[in-house]
Amino acid sequence: MTPVDDVIKASYFATAVLFIAGLRSMSSPATARRGIIWAGVGMTVAALATFFTPGMHHIPLMIGAIAVGMGLAQWSGRRVPMTAMPQMIALFNGMGGGAAAAIAAVELIKGGSAAAHHPVDVAILAVVGALIGAVSFGGSLIAFAKLQGLIKRVLSFPGQNLVDLVVLAVAVAGGVLVVLGETGAATHYGTPLVLGFIGVALLFGVLMTLPIGGADMPVVISLYNALTGLAVAFEGYVLGNPAMIIAGMVVGAAGTMLTQLMARAMNRSLANVLFSGFGATPAASGAASGSARPIEAGDAAIMLAYADKVIVAPGYGMAVAQAQHKVWELAQLLIDRGVQVKFAIHPVAGRMPGHMNVLLAEAGVPYDYIYDLDDINPEFATADAALVIGANDTVNLSARTDPGSPIYGMPILDVGKADNVVVIKRGAGVGFAGVENPLFFEDNVRMLYGDGQEAVAELIRGVKNA
Ligand code: NAP
Repeated sequence: MTPVDDVIKASYFATAVLFIAGLRSMSSPATARRGIIWAGVGMTVAALATFFTPGMHHIPLMIGAIAVGMGLAQWSGRRVPMTAMPQMIALFNGMGGGAAAAIAAVELIKGGSAAAHHPVDVAILAVVGALIGAVSFGGSLIAFAKLQGLIKRVLSFPGQNLVDLVVLAVAVAGGVLVVLGETGAATHYGTPLVLGFIGVALLFGVLMTLPIGGADMPVVISLYNALTGLAVAFEGYVLGNPAMIIAGMVVGAAGTMLTQLMARAMNRSLANVLFSGFGATPAASGAASGSARPIEAGDAAIMLAYADKVIVAPGYGMAVAQAQHKVWELAQLLIDRGVQVKFAIHPVAGRMPGHMNVLLAEAGVPYDYIYDLDDINPEFATADAALVIGANDTVNLSARTDPGSPIYGMPILDVGKADNVVVIKRGAGVGFAGVENPLFFEDNVRMLYGDGQEAVAELIRGVKNA
């Protein structure tokens, strides 16, 4: 082994450490920014080290491709609004899967000449990586199109799951033929078979994602993220690149855990998310009925201003209304008056993991005001008021009381245990799960109807006058 090999190996090791440390830091909002920088440095080290790999050629082409990619990423990263982050992640993630499939295609097409045949383990991993990467690429493009509003309808037809299975079987059969050809056990059909097999895998990703409702896309994106990681790890093995293997496994593991956490927090199985079409059409409303009692902003403001302890529970509606800055302004006013204010974050509030944390951080809410579901739930009983803003499913009592409810069993924020509850929403709209919320008819609950941002602005005026 030459000294250059040693330096490259050491660089890849440093990359792996930076990736893992970076990921660790991303587990808390307080250190997440640092984690992203570490991971970025790790990626830079790996990319630079790769240039020194013996036998590396087409250097100007590589630099050109990296410059174009970086330019596009910088441009789109700066322009994208926070609410469009899920689709941007879908797109970038899909690119990773596509890149893994492209690497596999190049390696497998190269293997067409007898001299360049791959050993059987390499051929299998290249093919499996190509399959997974292509599925992730195709699926992520559809997820992007749905979240971006480019595909508005849920496209499904009878027997769709069967058709999907057949397409998958064709892709797998193609993959087996490629492996047999690669290892010299059968004819190598060359480029057409490799590209055809990858094309069918891509089609499977597209078909599998089309019937899934737009609101379930975050779970699906997280799943494709995990698959992309796996595909990259497999192709890392094919190329003998340890940095790719480690980065891919880390992404694969993190994505798998995130997918499971999100599905569990919604009390759904992954299979239910993928194959039931839930969220595609509004679910039947639950049996809850009653009359919700409205409250004037001035009265709600007085209730908050003279409280000792207020817990704010934000949800998707806060994101839609972009009310986070106003919510923090209101909280600061209350804190200045001596009110103890805490923010309660449900794990699936909003439409992407950490959605509320991101919005509150953007508004400047310090992390020590923000509490997870398990930590805050025992505190509602000691709060004078809970202020629910644009949250519905995450505070829906039917998750506790109605076994027929699609969200039955999902843990919820115990806002109803506060002495008084003020719910800000525009009208009688249901949440993502499409079910009525019995909380709104409880005796201690009052509805402050209006757009989230305007309603909070009125509360601010009211507290100032109190
Ligand atoms: P939600 O159940 O979707 O309810 C949002 C509520 O906000 C609606 O009832 C709506 O009522 C109100 N709203 C909408 N726009 C508003 C505006 N401009 N101003 C004020 N209110 C507004 O929200 P959630 O409680 O956050 O629950 C999240 C749901 O999404 C859960 O079911 C979760 O499982 C699902 N989900 C989450 C993720 C994730 O990663 N976080 C991923 C996939 C699915 P009006 O129309 O009456 O205003």
